[in-house]
Amino acid sequence: MDKLVSLCKRRGFIFPSSEIYGGLGSCWDYGPLGVEMKNNVKAEWWRSVVRERNDMVGLDSSILMHPKIWEASGHVESFTDPLVDCKSCKVRFKADDLDGDVCPKCGGELTEPRLFNLMFKTFMGPVENDASVIFLRPETAQGIFVNFSNVMTASRQKLPFGIAQIGKSFRNEITPGNFIFRTREFEQMEIEFFVKPGTDAEWYDYWARERFNWYIHLGIKEENIKQQEHGKDELAHYAKSCVDVVYHFPFGWSELEGIANRTDYDLKQHAQYSGKELTFFDQEANEHVVPYVIEPSAGVDRSMLAFLCDAYDEEPERVVLRLHPRLAPFKAAIFPLVKRDGMPEKAREIERMLQSQFNVFYDESGSVGRRYRRQDEAGTPFCITVDSQTTEDDTVTLRDRDSMEQVRLPVANLCQALMERLNPSPVFSTQES
Ligand code: ATP
Repeated sequence: MDKLVSLCKRRGFIFPSSEIYGGLGSCWDYGPLGVEMKNNVKAEWWRSVVRERNDMVGLDSSILMHPKIWEASGHVESFTDPLVDCKSCKVRFKADDLDGDVCPKCGGELTEPRLFNLMFKTFMGPVENDASVIFLRPETAQGIFVNFSNVMTASRQKLPFGIAQIGKSFRNEITPGNFIFRTREFEQMEIEFFVKPGTDAEWYDYWARERFNWYIHLGIKEENIKQQEHGKDELAHYAKSCVDVVYHFPFGWSELEGIANRTDYDLKQHAQYSGKELTFFDQEANEHVVPYVIEPSAGVDRSMLAFLCDAYDEEPERVVLRLHPRLAPFKAAIFPLVKRDGMPEKAREIERMLQSQFNVFYDESGSVGRRYRRQDEAGTPFCITVDSQTTEDDTVTLRDRDSMEQVRLPVANLCQALMERLNPSPVFSTQES
């Protein structure tokens, strides 16, 4: 993990937030390469769950929402962790993390557990009083539930259909850590998939499978990922069943994504608290139904950490990030072999040609071997080199990151060659009902 954290900083994937001021606990900034990769993770998710389906639509709801939403959802009352304080050294612990009843730091006496709500509070408007308290959302899901009717009507959806959303969420975690695994500000990719009651078990199995496969198709090694079904005693009060996709991180097996059957709990709660009917009118049966909901809820940052961990590889001569080409920040790097004889100009010309379709990177500094190594560490799947032969026959070399093999091909075929290598085979299973 330390090596990955250092590579992420060195190459501009992830920096500690506010670093020149000493950093801010558990907050991280995504640098030039990190933001590209993160955008790719989100784009791949969106492509597979929204663009390539006809039963899902997107949404981008606001982070600040009516405070009653968090009462209806149960977050005000039960989105809490029990905490204990050490009476001697004053350190605070999550009660669930402790084995005994004495302080693990100094052996001192501990207080009784007290509940601590994980939602960040702030005030809306100029007056700071109880009436103006609002929360930063701790999940994007509730923004979907409260827009259920708007979205269904506007996009004329019929059951089964889903609403997908990507966005920031905030939790005042007691024990953040493990790099970007658990932070207080993070991004989620969530789906609420609305189905007819009675078909929920089938759709739950479908989404568990579909979401697991997404990680595999994007290159996660099968031995590093598995599904873990929650026991009945571990389920949240609203869930009928829940399965986690867990990844073998350097610090152990941990959750990447949860897929839950939330029944009709959320829509019923919001109907009760808002006084608005949240149902689907089934014309065949001539009745209003409250749909059941299957929720696949994933973390952008956690997925990114898993993709990075899985891709990291050390060889005797180099460190290489074997990222899936679709996730790699740059798809190709373009090098003039030397800085003369018209090679830089030709390389710039190729850069301009590819730029509109691919994120590419131009580099002319240092030996070509060093330039290859830099791109290996950045996960760039292909390097294109302009050499003296290019000026004669308009061909370049195309080097593959993983095999390090080089082929020679005409500049005119570059776009097509990259397209073929980057475009996945039709990976995502077609919809089935
Ligand atoms: P955990 O048990 O790890 O706290 P959770 O079960 O509370 O997670 P959910 O509420 O199901 O998580 O949130 C869905 C997803 O959002 C998680 O699978 C994870 O990918 C992501 N996520 C949740 N909390 C955090 C966090 N503090 N930092 C980064 N990602 C998070």
